[in-house]
Amino acid sequence: MGVKVLKFGGSSVADGIQLKKLKEIVEADPDRRYVVVSAPGKRFSGDNKVTDLLYLCKTEIDNHIPYDQVFQVIIDRYSAVKLNLGIDVDLKSRYEEIRRNIEAGCSVDYLASRGEFLSAVLVAAYLGYDFVDTAGLIQFDSRGRLLPEETNEALKAELAKHERAVLPGFYGTQKDTDKVRVFSRGGSDVTGSLVARAVEADVYENWTDVSGLLMADPRIVENPKPIDQITYVELRELSYMGASVLHEDAVFPVRGANIPINIRNTNKPEDPGTMITTSRPENTERILSGVAGNKDFTVIAIYKNMLNKEVGFIRRILTILEDLDVSFEHIPTGIDTVSVVISNDQLPEGKLDDVLDALQHQINPDSITVHDDIALIAAVGIGMSRRLGTSARLFTALAEAGVNVRMIDQGSSEINIIIGVLNEDFEKAIRAIYNAFNSDRDDVLKDTMSKLH
Ligand code: ASP
Repeated sequence: MGVKVLKFGGSSVADGIQLKKLKEIVEADPDRRYVVVSAPGKRFSGDNKVTDLLYLCKTEIDNHIPYDQVFQVIIDRYSAVKLNLGIDVDLKSRYEEIRRNIEAGCSVDYLASRGEFLSAVLVAAYLGYDFVDTAGLIQFDSRGRLLPEETNEALKAELAKHERAVLPGFYGTQKDTDKVRVFSRGGSDVTGSLVARAVEADVYENWTDVSGLLMADPRIVENPKPIDQITYVELRELSYMGASVLHEDAVFPVRGANIPINIRNTNKPEDPGTMITTSRPENTERILSGVAGNKDFTVIAIYKNMLNKEVGFIRRILTILEDLDVSFEHIPTGIDTVSVVISNDQLPEGKLDDVLDALQHQINPDSITVHDDIALIAAVGIGMSRRLGTSARLFTALAEAGVNVRMIDQGSSEINIIIGVLNEDFEKAIRAIYNAFNSDRDDVLKDTMSKLH
């Protein structure tokens, strides 16, 4: 028998209707043996997530405001699901225990974690799976940092005793104590990944409310194609540019163990979703995997004649940035030019002037130009930069769309081409790049290439 680990996000456990779908999904495949759940999320726009309500409760307690009303809203959500689905489980004693701990002055992490705790207790009973608490298994140090090896050993040992189990996401405990610690928001993704690694899963299925990643932001490109497969490295590039469906820390446990992640849609289980893998399958001819970007960067272009002969020039620029506590994104270089690309959030009022003054005085350039309204766009796809004609196609499409490219940074990786355009050209540029690799012309090219191979 194989083993699959499933994680269901907040919207997938939001109410009885969603839990019925969850059950059908789990029961459709006997390999689906370990299930990690989030706290109930929003059922409709304007609704509240249980985790937000728990944090609100804690704020009320800390400010000596009666918390009962909010707490009642929370427990009503679980009780309604229990009643609606006729689940035989004792929630009352759990509510009472939480209330007692609140009265005894529990921590914010403890209270926040109860959303996932109650969710897992309920789902375990509904599926007839064992409930396995992650307290004592997922372990953190005293500064709240995950201890991955201790966690892996403990999860492995415990789960070996359970053929099928439901576990709460989002939290664990501080090593050798019973102090609850939570991950950052969205952290149930990390729990799922840790469980998948511990049981050496064949796949980590991450069930959410979208059918995987799309090749571009649907607010910019109409009906973008879904990404059926992407590598971890490509995903990292796209997430860095803001296209994200997973918690950042969810990748590393499974990636190291070579376990693929499959992003799936609870509301459309028939969709195959996106498969995230270590390497790309041989048979794919796709050039572009995705395009994403962000607005609001500043590019400082520094020009100095014979710069390439001057030892320590770049180090001095970086020292200036370090001394002023400014982090940068990229530094594309030319023969006599160096550009520094910095996110505008790094340059609050006056900071840019400090950087420019220091550059002027300490490195004595021939000229410095500054553009503070630049958007960065990454066209991501393994092998795209070495594929003949790719850049030509990309830049022709941009020229045809009337987009002036202000900066190009291909780096040494073969994974992406990053371009800088004016903020006002951002959407136009994304559409041009997407269309350049998804037109009929592209399909014809792919067809010809596969015939040549
Ligand atoms: N319930 C937590 C949150 O809302 C964790 C999660 O859902 O992953 O952030």
